[in-house]
Amino acid sequence: MSYVDEVYERVVRENPSQPEFHQAVREVLDSLRPVIERNEEKYRREALLERITMPERQLLFRVPWVDDKGQVQVNNAFRVQFNSAIGPYKGGIRLHPSVNLGIIKFLGFEQIFKNSLTGLPIGGGKGGSDFDPKGKSDREVMAFCQSFMTELYKYIGADVDVPAGDIGTGAREIGYMYGQYKRLTGKYEGVLTGKGLTYGGSLARKEATGYGLLYLTEEMLKTNGIELAGKTVVVSGAGNVAIYAAQKAIQLGAKVVTVSDSTGWVYDPEGIDIDLLREVKEVRRARLTEYASARPSCEYHPGKGVFTAKCDVALPCATQNELTLDDAKALVANGCIAVAEGANMPTTQDATEYLMANGVLFAPGKAANAGGVATSALEMSQNSMRLHWTFDEVDEKLKGIMVNIFRNVDYAAKEYGMAGNYVAGANIAGFLKVAEAMMAQGVV
Ligand code: NDP
Repeated sequence: MSYVDEVYERVVRENPSQPEFHQAVREVLDSLRPVIERNEEKYRREALLERITMPERQLLFRVPWVDDKGQVQVNNAFRVQFNSAIGPYKGGIRLHPSVNLGIIKFLGFEQIFKNSLTGLPIGGGKGGSDFDPKGKSDREVMAFCQSFMTELYKYIGADVDVPAGDIGTGAREIGYMYGQYKRLTGKYEGVLTGKGLTYGGSLARKEATGYGLLYLTEEMLKTNGIELAGKTVVVSGAGNVAIYAAQKAIQLGAKVVTVSDSTGWVYDPEGIDIDLLREVKEVRRARLTEYASARPSCEYHPGKGVFTAKCDVALPCATQNELTLDDAKALVANGCIAVAEGANMPTTQDATEYLMANGVLFAPGKAANAGGVATSALEMSQNSMRLHWTFDEVDEKLKGIMVNIFRNVDYAAKEYGMAGNYVAGANIAGFLKVAEAMMAQGVV
């Protein structure tokens, strides 16, 4: 049995009932085969693949809090500190009822390679809880966040582990967590990113993942002789990533015709109205039905199906495994030329294979959505220097990072005889740096 298959079998055996984690490991290891084969003896002796697929530390803890009726509630919480070979652990905190250890491990594992790709000194980690901030009062969210941080603060720090936002964790939650960290430790340090602008946050962080997705998509299209301007774009999701991906796509001259949330999707042939979308989602925190009822040009479709809309470019920006094989078939049948992942692992493995086999340019999330974490690292730099950069300074750096990520991914794919396979290119480019750092640091 090959080294890759041996390690994959061990991961499945030792991490039962964690299908998302298995899926992420499988996808990464499969595309690393050419690299592993070139270095098999050395990697085996170092147990490199066993170590890189096993988190350095996994924290599981309970979070008790009191709701508005005086009832005590309790949630499960996790922080997985996956790999610190190239820098302090860095990765978001997801608050969603679907969160479990396997999901956090899949996200933490992906984060190692994504963070490496940014070229910045950040290791991989991820955290979260099955707490659902939706429908909770501000006081309830604060009670949860304070209790969550009362346990987590012992294990994080500006040079140790720097969490950030993710699904369900926005500026409000980060603010409450930061306040509690400061209160418990007495330290005013860059321990979280995604902070508010009045207390150490970076301009352009909110926009960074969506904007970065478009900078990379534009570069990928350009490399293949295609212009983004004038193209029709399908965006899924209507959260942080989706909103700013749609905004930047429009700024770059494309037309965005859809957004979605967990209850349905809208098709707006005249193009999504970003101001209205932001009002509905960021201010009113309402469902897309409210967007649809304010736009006569718009169709509302309950449930799934956003990828059946005709487009040139699809940007899945909601959640994992949202773009299935059937969706991939619909995209290909409708003439889609490129898919770039704004969310983490939104495309199932069979859908990814189908898209690539049918000549669709495919940018995997760990490269395409790395703009968020890259800008988080820029926030860490500003905090350490006690400085604030302007929006344009951060945006300029972000653009440079995304273009550079694409070029490295493209180069790595070509170097290993897989030109145009950006999934392999991203995994290889991200992996090589971490592998070298791990081996240089000995058996730790
Ligand atoms: P948000 O919580 O702001 O938005 C998530 C969006 O996806 C919402 O519209 C939500 O709809 C929808 N969604 C969530 N779960 C499901 C589901 N199970 N089925 C259908 N729709 C769903 O999150 P973000 O925009 O921050 O994150 C989106 C994705 O991007 C995630 O995969 C995240 O890990 C990834 N990402 C985020 C980064 C960031 O900087 N924010 C950085 C890199 C990656 P509803 O409101 O109805 O639940």
